[in-house]
Amino acid sequence: MPDQTEDLNILHARHGRYPQADSVEDFRRNLAAVQQRIVEACRRVGRDPAGVRLLPVSKTFDEAHLRLAYAAGCRLLGENKVQEAQRKWEAMTDLQDLQWSVIGHLQTNKAKQVARFASEFQALDSLRVAEALDRRLRILDRQMDVFVQVNTSGEASKYGLAPDDVAAFLETMPAFPTLRVRGLMTLALFSADAVRVRPCFVRLRELRDRLRHCAPDGVSLQELSMGMSGDFEIAIEEGATVVRVGQAIFGARAMPDAYYWPTADARPLIEDTLLSITPSR
Ligand SMILES: *Cc1c(COP(=O)(O)O)cnc(C)c1O
Repeated sequence: MPDQTEDLNILHARHGRYPQADSVEDFRRNLAAVQQRIVEACRRVGRDPAGVRLLPVSKTFDEAHLRLAYAAGCRLLGENKVQEAQRKWEAMTDLQDLQWSVIGHLQTNKAKQVARFASEFQALDSLRVAEALDRRLRILDRQMDVFVQVNTSGEASKYGLAPDDVAAFLETMPAFPTLRVRGLMTLALFSADAVRVRPCFVRLRELRDRLRHCAPDGVSLQELSMGMSGDFEIAIEEGATVVRVGQAIFGARAMPDAYYWPTADARPLIEDTLLSITPSR
């Protein structure tokens, strides 16, 4: 359960730990540092670093900073909220090879927008959203890579299917030919404690290994999207093929993470927190 004080403590810790990137050189340096950490994590477990894709997460950062990231080589950016992603996409259509990955929960009434601008959707967790996306994608004659989000932490505040529901969900996917299922995605327990985080990643990998052989035709479970700035090395050690990294590339965010993964009752608290911290930035 996100707690206000805990989030603020983490926030302050992060301002020290994740310096802001304000130039192309800053982005190059941060990207190189993250890549180096990916290489080292792979080496520890005998994996080929080519098997890990870095997805830079640009949520909350403004267009100017996204353009710096692009200049430093980023061609796919992850965004958690549809409206924010759409606004940025519209402002940056001049960068024709820049693609967008939506990594946050989607409501069916936003499927229309996502079908237009996203090349990838990583938070599929309901039939209704699959139906809505497929309907829109057919109209646009497009396809999209999708990841099925799994709740591996058991926290009520996290979206995603319960692990036991994933097999039945995958069985329904061939009905949606515009959705190319690539694998599974998860958010680990929100904790700085590796002992508590690692089992979430292990759970996702074991689930994938179990379901791999019985997945229907056209449904691939090759990919495991897991790990963020605070825990991506652990995720790689446990088999991540995609790591979603924001703050270690862009710098610390002035938003508690619970703002992005809200529970109904945590949200007003967090908005108060934001109001109280924003003026002092
Ligand atoms: C914000 C976010 C990330 C990245 O978190 P950082 O701490 O910035 O690395 C990863 N996955 C999802 C779903 C997110 O919303």
